Order: sequence, then structure tokens, then C-alpha cells
Amino acid sequence: MVSQQGIQGIGMTSARTRDRLVARLHEQGIRNLDVLNQIRNVPRHLFVDEALASRAYEDTALPIGMGQTISQPFVVARMTEALLNGFAGKKILEIGTGCGYQTAVLAPLVKEIFSVERISALLKKTRQRLRDLDIYNVKFHLGDGWEGWRKYGPYDAIIVAAAATELPEKLLEQLAPGGRMIIPVGPSGRQELMLIERKDEHFEQMSLGLVSFVPLVKDN
Ligand code: SAH
Repeated sequence: MVSQQGIQGIGMTSARTRDRLVARLHEQGIRNLDVLNQIRNVPRHLFVDEALASRAYEDTALPIGMGQTISQPFVVARMTEALLNGFAGKKILEIGTGCGYQTAVLAPLVKEIFSVERISALLKKTRQRLRDLDIYNVKFHLGDGWEGWRKYGPYDAIIVAAAATELPEKLLEQLAPGGRMIIPVGPSGRQELMLIERKDEHFEQMSLGLVSFVPLVKDN
């Protein structure tokens, strides 16, 4: 006999629950089918503590420990869609790996991701989690996102999952000509999601709307 809890457990992470989330994101304007499919396919309940698994397919950010959060699905979808729009490149730099949810949504849609996180305990768990999900096209780096990851640059796209007080100079330098960067910029409560495009001689900026992220920490 299946226990009540068992039934609920299945219900909360079932195909129908995921379909509801996808339908909601579509209603809110997400149109890229690859992105919507990824939101449906990636098992978000495996990225949060078991105690929160039943809430994994709600469109909200949730705590993942160490004072950090897993991003809201709508925001992940919006950022991924903006990043892939007109994207013909191969290499992505991701800043703020966290639990790796954004990484897992993006990984099958690009050739290679280089992902930087400053909290070693998070990175260790995330490495294992992505391996368990058979995701192999991601290289991880324990380091400061303000510095980027020069070794593998320049990058065709850069995606930043924490809010910067200003545009990080070194990330702009590591963006390839024709490349695009998606980054939340501004103080808590007034952050804007910015799309930066690198043209031959200059950068173009566009706001994609207001967002709420944890800060991109400055260590010194
Ligand atoms: N991408 C995650 C969300 C991560 S939350 C998801 O899909 O859910 C933001 C992450 O950025 C946190 O893990 C935090 O530790 C990391 N972070 C904050 N400041 C950083 C910095 N200066 N360098 C690298 N990572 C940073």
C-alpha cells in the first residue's frame, strides 16, 4: 500500500505539476521551446533540500543553505531565453553556480559552460549533482566572479546569477566581440536585469526589467 505521504510526494514532483509550471511561464511570456522543455525536464526537486522538495515546482526562489537561494524558474527561463536569442556561439561563462539549477537548464542547449562559484561547500555538492544527472559539458572553478575565468575566455556569452553593484570590468573584457552578457545590476531592492551586447567598438545595454538576486559578493 502506498502511504499518504508517498502519494503526496509523487504528486508534488509529477509530470502534471511540472506542466503547470511550464504553462505558467509560457503565460508570462517565455516563448523559447527549448527553454520551456528544459524547465519541464530538469528535476528541480533534486536541487533543494528534501524538506523543500514539495515546493520545487512553485515559481519561487528557495533557500539552498549558506545564505544562498536557488533562482526562481521564471528568472532562469527569462535569462536563458535572453542569452540564447541570436546566440551562435559555443562557450558560456556562468558566475554564481550555486546549486547548479541554471547550469543544468542551460547545459544541453550549448556546447560548454565554465562556471564560477565562491562557496566551496556548494560547489562540491553541485559537481556531484550534475554528474548524477549525466551533465558533463561543465567545468567548475572555485573563485571570485568579479574576476571571471580568464583562462578559457573570451566567452560567447556570460550569465551572472548574483547582483553586481556595477558592471564588472573583467567580465566585459572576457566577452567576445558579438557576445552577450546577462547580469543583474544595482543595490538590493533596485536591481535591473541587464543585457549587454559587445559590438565591434562598443557595448550596448538594455534593461530586461526589475529582479531580485543575492549580491555578487566583493571579497576585498
Ligand atoms: N545559479 C543558481 C543561483 C545561485 S545564487 C541557481 O540556478 O539557482 C547566487 C550564487 O552566486 C551563490 O551561490 C553565491 O555564493 C554566488 N556568488 C556570490 N558572489 C559571488 C562571487 N563574487 N563570485 C562567485 N560566486 C558568487
